[in-house]
Amino acid sequence: MFFLSTLILLTLVSYFLVKVAMAKIGPKKEEDLGNLKSEYDNLYLKNQSLKEENSLLDGKVTQTLGLYNISKDMSKELDENKIFHIFKERINDYVKIGCCNFLVKGADLKRYEGYINFPLVINNEIAGHLIARDIAENDKYRFQILAQQFLIMVKRAFLYKNIQELAIMDGLTQVFSRRHFLERFKEELRRSRKFKHNFSFLMLDIDKFKNFNDKYGHLVGDAVLREASKTVKENVRQIDFVGRYGGEELSIILPETDKEQALLAAERIRQAIEKREIKVYDEELKVTVSVGISTFPDDADDSSLLIEAADKALYLAKNEGRNRVCAYRRK
Ligand code: GH3
Ligand code: MG
Ligand code: MG
Repeated sequence: MFFLSTLILLTLVSYFLVKVAMAKIGPKKEEDLGNLKSEYDNLYLKNQSLKEENSLLDGKVTQTLGLYNISKDMSKELDENKIFHIFKERINDYVKIGCCNFLVKGADLKRYEGYINFPLVINNEIAGHLIARDIAENDKYRFQILAQQFLIMVKRAFLYKNIQELAIMDGLTQVFSRRHFLERFKEELRRSRKFKHNFSFLMLDIDKFKNFNDKYGHLVGDAVLREASKTVKENVRQIDFVGRYGGEELSIILPETDKEQALLAAERIRQAIEKREIKVYDEELKVTVSVGISTFPDDADDSSLLIEAADKALYLAKNEGRNRVCAYRRK
């Protein structure tokens, strides 16, 4: 009996203890679960905000790379109009802007009231203005950075042109620069007027030169230009004066030379160029030229009119089929 009642007592005590223990453990588990859930929620929120931050950063990287690429592309050009073209074409991908324009020195700024104006300063003088209107507030800072890049590139182009103009020799062709040529041209005109001599002026242009660039690239085009200039120099007298008038145009002064003699000299040059095989890298190329001639005093007695006459004669040579010489003819 004693044994039975002890057993019952023990069972009751164990039951009671288990119940107490369960009552203690139950809420703890729930509490832990609650804690874990709020920790998870926190982490989830953090993850979301990191994702957002990441995509914002991604956007910024893309934009920065885009801005960098615009600058890189602008830096490939040395002509302010081409630089502005790239700037204008590409800026709308990154900046919301109503209108922008590049004005050269002396433009009437009154017409652009209300525009933001970024002046281009070269040697302490204003050489132009980048003007813009209706830039979204968020984009102003970015536009400012790009505008500064643009101005640096244009400044570089202007300075490059300045140096080119000041140089006596043309770096690529090793004939005289346009500026120096024109000075000598005027000098020859004064001298010929004074001593009553005649002289002739040749304007020579490579035929279909663009095709060389397009087919073989600019480096080959440059080499063709160099070789053609060399051939011209080899086929003129020492007193003749060869200049680079423009891209692929050479100009030649033949002192004390009348139209007949100029036609012969020009024909000699034309043939020499036609015969020459130009070896560039693995290519063997042939090139032809067209030549226009004007003569002082027969065609004009003023420098710009003489140049205009040679230009018209060159136009005739091109129109009549290229690879030929034409002297200026009055209609
Ligand atoms: P045309 O017979 O009518 O004269 O045809 P063209 O292709 O020679 O004439 P066009 O004026 O259309 O092209 C001249 C080309 O010369 C365009 C220009 O890119 C190229 N050019 C000008 N200067 C240089 C230079 O220094 N190097 C090279 N590689 N190309 C040049
Ligand atoms: Mg030309
Ligand atoms: Mg040409």
